[in-house]
Amino acid sequence: MPRVYSRCHFCGGDVSEKKVTVDYRWGNELIAIIDNVPAGVCPKCGEQYFRAEIVKEMEKLAHSGEEPVRMIEIPYREMAIAS
Ligand SMILES: [Zn+2]
Repeated sequence: MPRVYSRCHFCGGDVSEKKVTVDYRWGNELIAIIDNVPAGVCPKCGEQYFRAEIVKEMEKLAHSGEEPVRMIEIPYREMAIAS
């Protein structure tokens, strides 16, 4: 059963549900990549909309002490711009 999202807040596009990958970040040091997240995606501007229960579920997953599916390395860089 397809879920109905409102039109895109930014461009009025016809938002429909897709599975997306989310870089879920909390604090300064922790990032979890969560795959297969249902989200409303705008086909025009790409804006993503998450239902409240999905956000809660991501929070739960990110904070759960359970072993992640796998660990990945993420490059860390700094931008050096003379101001
Ligand atoms: Zn849009």
